[in-house]
Amino acid sequence: MVIASKLPEIGLTIFSEMTRLALQHGAINLSQGFPDFDTHAELKDLVAKYIRSGHNQYSPMQGVDALREIIAAKTRQLYDAVYDPATEITVTTGGTQAIYTAVTATVHPGDEVILVEPAYDCYAPIVRLNGGVPVFATLDFPSYRIDWNAFGRLVNAKTRLIILNFPHNPSGAVLSAQDLEILAEILRPNPVLILSDEVYEHIVFDGLSHQSMSRHPELRQRSFVVHSFAKTYHTTGWKVGYCIAPRALSEEFRKIHQYMVFAVNTPIQYAYAEFLEDRQRYLSLPSFYQAKRDRFLDLIRNSRFRPLPCHGTYYQLLDYSQVSDEPEMQFARRLTMEYGVAAIPPSVFYHRGGDHKVLRFCFAKKEETLSAAAERLNAI
Ligand code: GLN
Repeated sequence: MVIASKLPEIGLTIFSEMTRLALQHGAINLSQGFPDFDTHAELKDLVAKYIRSGHNQYSPMQGVDALREIIAAKTRQLYDAVYDPATEITVTTGGTQAIYTAVTATVHPGDEVILVEPAYDCYAPIVRLNGGVPVFATLDFPSYRIDWNAFGRLVNAKTRLIILNFPHNPSGAVLSAQDLEILAEILRPNPVLILSDEVYEHIVFDGLSHQSMSRHPELRQRSFVVHSFAKTYHTTGWKVGYCIAPRALSEEFRKIHQYMVFAVNTPIQYAYAEFLEDRQRYLSLPSFYQAKRDRFLDLIRNSRFRPLPCHGTYYQLLDYSQVSDEPEMQFARRLTMEYGVAAIPPSVFYHRGGDHKVLRFCFAKKEETLSAAAERLNAI
């Protein structure tokens, strides 16, 4: 049987493709974004504790109470934003499910959705699957800042949703408080919603602070803010995140969520609820990852790769124009096969073009992985 594809131009995601190529060629995998070190022993013990003590049946559809309550407290402390855990916080099976659910809850056929590109690879397909039309606002290169004038011109009566993702994957760009003010001004006359993918909220460097949509009293009213525990606690394989949104938005979100996954892994939710009590765990993340970024940059400082500014996330863009003039995809493949280091070509995050001769390297890695990769990069 052959079925008519709903996504005819789409193949395997770049993350699966590059990880597979890395495995095939025994390359050091700095492509797909995940730590090669383990999560906290105490967190693993907590999951075991809740499994052993019998927390093994469905959780409430919206998530376990204790977890939603501590998320509400954390959001208040960090962003000065009050969300009701009963009606405005929903625990999800990771960030991607939250994004899918929010788009499905809001986008009607023919609606326009503004994406900032380079755009994380799931956004446009999810918009299209819901009958929406992606419209692209391209970040300036090499600053990866939003050109607000160009952005403002894209907003019209058909615009339903804007998808933002800061700290930005793949560039590491962050938003300033002024960016939020400008966005609020652009949107003021328009009934446009925001979906803000903030899964790297705790990985912001150089003394900067994360500008969450929930921090801004006006923007928060129209925002679904998506978070994840994966990047914060080195648990990308556990697939647990959450979405916070005002009551009316959360109500629609939950209508979809209940039929998409119903509820999320129960013992892991209890474990996170307890682990989140130690605020130091996430407050110390900027210095933990900034040290890794700086170590990686120091290790490759004499190479022919030139770093672009990175203020957040655990990705570093490197310009390879002194090494090769091949397109990003081609060079990424050759770097993996011939030199044994796998990276992500950001050109795949543009709907067309966007080939700037840079590759994205994930530095959420052990010291020995970073130094082995640097040795190979330095030899090119
Ligand atoms: N978010 C991770 C990245 O950007 C990977 C996610 C995935 O493999 N789908 O690399």
